Amino acid sequence: MDEIAVVTGAGGGIGSAVALMIHDKSEGALKLALCDINKNALAELAGRIPGSFPVVSDITTEAGRKALVDAVLAKGTPSVLVNNAGIDRPHEPCLAILESSYDTLLNLNLKAPAFLMRAFCKEMMAAGGGAVVNISSVLAKHALTGSALYRVSKAGLEALTKQFAAEFGPRGVRVNAVAPGFIMTPMTANIPDETKEKIRSMIALGEFGTPEAVAEAVWHLVENQYINGVVLPVDGGMVL
Ligand code: NAD
Repeated sequence: MDEIAVVTGAGGGIGSAVALMIHDKSEGALKLALCDINKNALAELAGRIPGSFPVVSDITTEAGRKALVDAVLAKGTPSVLVNNAGIDRPHEPCLAILESSYDTLLNLNLKAPAFLMRAFCKEMMAAGGGAVVNISSVLAKHALTGSALYRVSKAGLEALTKQFAAEFGPRGVRVNAVAPGFIMTPMTANIPDETKEKIRSMIALGEFGTPEAVAEAVWHLVENQYINGVVLPVDGGMVL
């Protein structure tokens, strides 16, 4: 049976870089399960990664998560899970937050990773071990107007990371997170230039990050066998 690395949101900027990095660094030993709701982006990426397979699925639903788990188990044994799919909108100042926005942001950014970890880590433990990397954000620890619900979702994801690391470490599954700063992807493409410049001035290195910088950190946490329960910032020194 193949060993499989599952990447959610693989059609996006960071997810596609992570999938390509895992394929390159593992020299094809890990087969990529590429999950997204964007069918075209997945097909394009799957064409670039030999041995990979796309799973078009909405992981905010229980049925969508089950479809992903079933598709992976039909192909092999999961040994890596990267919970990357996420959204940062709607942006709403605290007085304007909506219940519907809470559901939208929390369902994808927090609930989906929680239940995907539960399902995949069970399989990893049965197979003798594995690694999970959750994609958090610098905003888990930093206030930015309009980001209250996004911040809650990522702070919750960091808490889940440590909880799962504590409970599953003894059974061979390591759980870590990467917290990117401002990374150039479709998620950040439409931010007005003036706001971008304000954000850039907050970064000690004075530059925005690349998806590849995040992907390298993800691979480090997959590969290093003695790191468990950490949140690794990849933000150029944004919250110092
Ligand atoms: P992106 O918008 O390029 O990619 C996100 C992907 O998730 C898209 O391909 C989208 O189709 C997919 N997706 C959305 N809803 C889905 C669903 N219901 N089921 C399955 N897939 C779904 O965004 P990105 O910048 O690559 O962000 C990836 C992760 O990194 C997110 O968790 C985000 O919060 C985090 N992050 C990004 C930045 C940044 O500056 N770009 C900073 C910090 C954290």
